[in-house]
Amino acid sequence: MSDPRSQALLTELIGFDTTSRNSNLALIEFVRAYLAELAIAAELVPDPTGQKANLIASFGPKDAAGLVLSGHTDVVPVDGQAWTSDPFTCVRREDRFYGRGTADMKGFIACVLALLPDWRQLQLRRPIHLALSYDEEVGCRGVPGLLDRLAERLPTAPFGCLVGEPTSMQVGNGHKGKAGYVCTVTGRASHSALNHQGVNAVEIAALLIAELRRMNGELSRQGPFAEGYDPAHTTCSTGRIEGGGALNIVPARCRFEFEFRTLPGQDPDQLLAALQRYGATLLPAMRAVAPEAAIDWAPLMSYPALGGEPVSELEALACRLTGTVRPDKLSFGTEAGHFALRGIPAIVCGPGSIAVAHKPDEYVEAAQLLACEAFLGQLVHQLAAA
Ligand SMILES: [Zn+2]
Repeated sequence: MSDPRSQALLTELIGFDTTSRNSNLALIEFVRAYLAELAIAAELVPDPTGQKANLIASFGPKDAAGLVLSGHTDVVPVDGQAWTSDPFTCVRREDRFYGRGTADMKGFIACVLALLPDWRQLQLRRPIHLALSYDEEVGCRGVPGLLDRLAERLPTAPFGCLVGEPTSMQVGNGHKGKAGYVCTVTGRASHSALNHQGVNAVEIAALLIAELRRMNGELSRQGPFAEGYDPAHTTCSTGRIEGGGALNIVPARCRFEFEFRTLPGQDPDQLLAALQRYGATLLPAMRAVAPEAAIDWAPLMSYPALGGEPVSELEALACRLTGTVRPDKLSFGTEAGHFALRGIPAIVCGPGSIAVAHKPDEYVEAAQLLACEAFLGQLVHQLAAA
């Protein structure tokens, strides 16, 4: 097997510890300098702290609809994980490259960068846009700002976006959306022997959580259902709860975090509104004892679902090039939903397996990088070359 052209670039990218809590600017500056050598100007879109940035770079004709190649630059933490070698040093053992982000998703970014010198030699009839984001792993926080800027920059909306999350080089054209919230219940403390004088915030939270569980059961029985998703319906789940301090005190406060994983077309705000309506039925009895009693709601994070749109030119070609007979409905979320929400047809296809992502000894196979390089080369030739 020949060495992937992206090998040296992957080694560079893995060397930047871009765990989401850190700045990604060293990596972004590395990419900017690499692009500058190819006479491609990059624009940075900083986060509010100035410690992180998205990168946008375009080349080719300005007035035609282009192809977006998109990836996130951040990686998940390695804390507490047992790695065989330094996670931020890309190490080749046999035909695999090990390191944090090799699969998710610096392998894809390295492949794109490795092909840029070729693409600079082409006469393009449609532009290529490189879109690198920050903070994908902590709730797709970077990509909305990137998309705002992209829309301002481009006279013509892109005709498609390829998000290179690890799919073992098969095309994914759908995934559920996710919306996470925190609910804070305020009651009133009292001696537990005099619980008629208090409002038990833990018990109120328990009722709300039971309602979420009931909603999940109803969705699992009545749908809506969509083929290919596992499970085939929207889900509701509570993931975290805190409240109470002692057995003999009626707790005044309880806080819990919950999420909806929504099929394309299902609005998480409507599910939230249904839960809030139920909560509103509990308030009068709470306030009869304690006027300060409250149930407060706040969003934690969200990303939209992907899927349900007609098959795009990009999807059809990507399926043909990768031999994907039936595109996958992915079990993980990506930034592709954000692109689709803005009317840019998006698919997911990239090197490496999601099964090794976020784990110790994450790797990408050399064969996957080679396959991605070949795929990208053909994709750009067929979609954008004159
Ligand atoms: Zn990822």
